[in-house]
Amino acid sequence: MSGIIIEKKFCENSDLVCKCCNSPVWEIESRGNFCFVCNRILDDSDTETQNQFYFPRVGIAYLNHNNEYEYLKDKTGKTIIFENQVLAESSLITHKMNLENFYFIEVNSLSNCKDNKDGRQL
Ligand SMILES: [Zn+2]
Repeated sequence: MSGIIIEKKFCENSDLVCKCCNSPVWEIESRGNFCFVCNRILDDSDTETQNQFYFPRVGIAYLNHNNEYEYLKDKTGKTIIFENQVLAESSLITHKMNLENFYFIEVNSLSNCKDNKDGRQL
């Protein structure tokens, strides 16, 4: 599953887009489907199905022992970014990693949003 990290929490991509601004919509725990561009919770009537060819660039993160999301980095300490989730998954499989332990964090999906505190660091 792919998503974004907002205020240290993983928000899964809902596979929906906002009818108003066409931005991807993420599920926020206890608040439902949220559009960060319009900055509001969306009803079913406010959304439509996401284009099936939506393949954002992703970084790979895991929960560390402090229960914080930490990105996989290369030898120089730079976050590794993949062209899409398929390539990220196959890299993990190549290294015999269990996919269930990882989160695919969309990069730049929220680059125009004020709330993108975590994503902007990438
Ligand atoms: Zn919107």
